[in-house]
Amino acid sequence: MNELDTFRAEVRAWLEANYPPSLRTPPQEGEIPMASSKIEFKSEDARLWYERMRDKGWLAPDWPTAFGGAGLDSARTRIVEVELTRAGCRPPLVSLGIWMIGPVLLEFGTDEQKSTFLPGTGRGEIGWCQGFSEPNAGSDLASLKMSAVREGDDFIVNGSKIWTSYAFLADQMYALVRTSNEGTKQQGITMVLIDMKASGVTVRPIDLISGKSSFCQVFFDNVRVPVKNMVGPLNGGWGVAKRLLTFERKAMSKFAELNLPGPSLVPVVKKALGDANGRISSAVMRDKVAGLEIETHVQGLTQQRIVEMMKSGKDVTNVSATMKYQLSDTLKKGSETMVAALGLQGLGWESEGFAKDELEATKQWLNDKAHSIAGGSSEVQLNIIAKRVLGLPE
Ligand SMILES: Cc1cc2nc3c(=O)[nH]c(=O)nc-3n(C[C@H](O)[C@H](O)[C@H](O)COP(=O)(O)OP(=O)(O)OC[C@H]3O[C@@H](n4cnc5c(N)ncnc54)[C@H](O)[C@@H]3O)c2cc1C
Repeated sequence: MNELDTFRAEVRAWLEANYPPSLRTPPQEGEIPMASSKIEFKSEDARLWYERMRDKGWLAPDWPTAFGGAGLDSARTRIVEVELTRAGCRPPLVSLGIWMIGPVLLEFGTDEQKSTFLPGTGRGEIGWCQGFSEPNAGSDLASLKMSAVREGDDFIVNGSKIWTSYAFLADQMYALVRTSNEGTKQQGITMVLIDMKASGVTVRPIDLISGKSSFCQVFFDNVRVPVKNMVGPLNGGWGVAKRLLTFERKAMSKFAELNLPGPSLVPVVKKALGDANGRISSAVMRDKVAGLEIETHVQGLTQQRIVEMMKSGKDVTNVSATMKYQLSDTLKKGSETMVAALGLQGLGWESEGFAKDELEATKQWLNDKAHSIAGGSSEVQLNIIAKRVLGLPE
């Protein structure tokens, strides 16, 4: 057995001994805790799993031990990731810090930024939110206006960010701010790290039609942000943000690797419309559900192929746009089909006449509409596909 085989055997044995059996089912929405100083767990086993992974340094296995990681080289990091997937382990944490801004700080951060932010981030104790979108800058992000004007050792920040996911749990925000109006829109943007407890920061949750409220609008009123919290060069934030998005894709591919099958529609639709000799009684619905199940299966396989392409160093930017478009569409069609099958029972909100799973289906249907907006809208993905994949003229 070579060193790597020995390491793999150790990882397997550790997971066998330490992964709580109660977490062996696919996680429900909201069951994976969000990294934060206010971290909350839905169960004692979820807490245990997080603490064990944190103490092992495996929340960020390739980060240096001084920053909360395990200091593993890329081969060993890969082994940990593969074995976690093989054992069907849930991610112990959702963390924009570990997945996105942490790797950016490792690459662009000053020594002071690394020692201030990375240890807590690597242990899941500092939660981050992403302050990119603004009321008039979403798809056209480079139009952002939130201003940062230098005054001594600080920037004075004014403006607002919108659709900021989980800002109410976050301790820090990595934000894109306008530091210059010279040159192109992209050239006047800088990335800064903002303390969410700083004076002048107001977080206002936005209520959604799904009844959930994970979004916020965040207002900045003369907020002092130390210049030492600037990430990368002044007016060089666009390049830093592009790098950050490559880390986002890497993190998303880890989720894709898990390849957790979503719940099948068949039992729900059968229950709602009736079971005819083991089949959904309505031929129209049978056809619809079969089509969706096939689509989902094909997408799972394609996603796996993209992950393999990424691992072999291929650029997957364009093909990712196609997948993003397709996946959003399938998710939306899935919940629409479920609500259609449930009929009036799929349109309940909170009355006693509805079962718990029926009420959840309604919320899921409304919630799934966000997929075609988050992380770049479907129309924007179609533009990318038209230009970069199909080579159509502007
Ligand atoms: C679940 C979710 C989580 C999010 N989390 C965050 C977060 O944490 N941090 C953050 O900064 N942002 C976040 N966002 C915001 C997200 O990035 C923006 O909503 C997205 O970029 C679209 O911007 P917008 O909402 O301003 O819509 P707009 O850009 O105003 O678009 C409105 C409509 O016009 C269409 N459109 C726009 N431009 C074009 C074009 N060139 N061609 C064709 N059609 C076009 C769009 O497709 C859309 O239908 C989140 C959004 C969602 C839904």
